Amino acid sequence: MCQLCNGTHVVHDEGDYCTIYHCCPNCGPIPDEQWLARIQAVYEWATARKVELDRLNLVKEVC
Ligand SMILES: [Zn+2]
Repeated sequence: MCQLCNGTHVVHDEGDYCTIYHCCPNCGPIPDEQWLARIQAVYEWATARKVELDRLNLVKEVC
């Protein structure tokens, strides 16, 4: 595994007031299929969490 990005393909450049995100110079940008899998995992987690909160009646609709 890459020692610079730890397999995330992202390198953080932390300044005094901001953090800039760069593609890892060793690994390059994340492959599309890996990115889509990551987005899908987040979507599934959020959907499962909303179902859980709906079941507990903790989500309130805001107009
Ligand atoms: Zn890397």
